[in-house]
Amino acid sequence: MSGYLFTPGPLTTTETVRQAMMEDWGSRDAAFIRLTRETREGIDAIAGAGATHTTVLMQGSGTFAVEAALATLVGPRDRLLVAINGEYGRRIEKIAARMGKAVEPLSFGDTEPVDPARLKAHLEANPEITQVAVVHLETTTGLLNPLPEIASVVAEAGRRLILDSMAAFGAYAIDLRTLPCAAVIASSNKGLHGTPGIGFVVAEKALLERCAGHSPSVSLDLHDQWRGFESNGQWRFTPPTHILAALHRAIAEHAADGGTEGRRALYGANAAKVTARMEALGIVPTLPAELRSSVILTFDSPDAPWFDFKSLYDRLAAQGFRIYPGKLTQTETFRIGCIGAIPPEGFDAMLDAFEAAIADMKAPKAAE
Ligand SMILES: *Cc1c(COP(=O)(O)O)cnc(C)c1O
Repeated sequence: MSGYLFTPGPLTTTETVRQAMMEDWGSRDAAFIRLTRETREGIDAIAGAGATHTTVLMQGSGTFAVEAALATLVGPRDRLLVAINGEYGRRIEKIAARMGKAVEPLSFGDTEPVDPARLKAHLEANPEITQVAVVHLETTTGLLNPLPEIASVVAEAGRRLILDSMAAFGAYAIDLRTLPCAAVIASSNKGLHGTPGIGFVVAEKALLERCAGHSPSVSLDLHDQWRGFESNGQWRFTPPTHILAALHRAIAEHAADGGTEGRRALYGANAAKVTARMEALGIVPTLPAELRSSVILTFDSPDAPWFDFKSLYDRLAAQGFRIYPGKLTQTETFRIGCIGAIPPEGFDAMLDAFEAAIADMKAPKAAE
């Protein structure tokens, strides 16, 4: 399957990232141990981990890292509040509940940002809450939550923040030297442009140290995984060797592309182009401009008899362009991802094909 993925991950990778997977690595080999260490250090640097935080890699997609973080960092005396404005926030609540943690939701609409003032009031009224989880960039809509304000409210209330930054990491800056946050969770196959299969948590060391025995799962135990890396530099269980090699390469390319700033500029240009072309077709973004991110855009599907997402999708896919269905329950929407190693001409070609597909769907069909 060739072409471009206009999706929020897995996404289009560079030829060189895919080439990095062509070697077989021995998991106990010194060269692989170095690859693991350098990858952890690379992620530490992107997160501004400093001396206080450290990256713990986890086999699996991003959700496996979310599950390991919640299982391990939410202790028996903790109560977790999940600020929810989309599917990924709901998933955090579901995972915490399944893991047997004390958890409660603070819900907002899916097209509404998490409101720091409401969060503050809720924390004041509920002193038993010790931790707050929030999604940085809700992939459900592409909404960017006000992270600095949320982190300040949580810190000033003396609670701990657990951040799902899966869709934002590598493109929207996080600096753990200044941002009060106990754990940042992300994965290999979003803003870092790696291949899917590794999640990670950049966690506060002082907190990790106190979390031995919290996880009801052996494989998804962030504390034990961390101890493993620290003791001999190795993964506890069979590592995704090829995916790690690809991620290692992708982190080098992230730096070469100008790091987080460079990625954000690239996605910003992509998103501006996509938005302008959609608006020219009379297709409007679901979110107001001030809530939109440039990672993924949600558009209201044209409310017209000629429009059919499946038909649109198939026409684009036949030319190698894969867009993404919507996830809102209230309105018919579709999404276009603006991330991944897609050259500007790739966006132009997809948008030309999109315009042609719309024109074709609209055209009155000739009578037989
Ligand atoms: C992608 C993503 C995840 C993880 O999803 P996986 O399918 O497990 O990789 C979690 N949260 C957000 C906000 C995401 O965008």
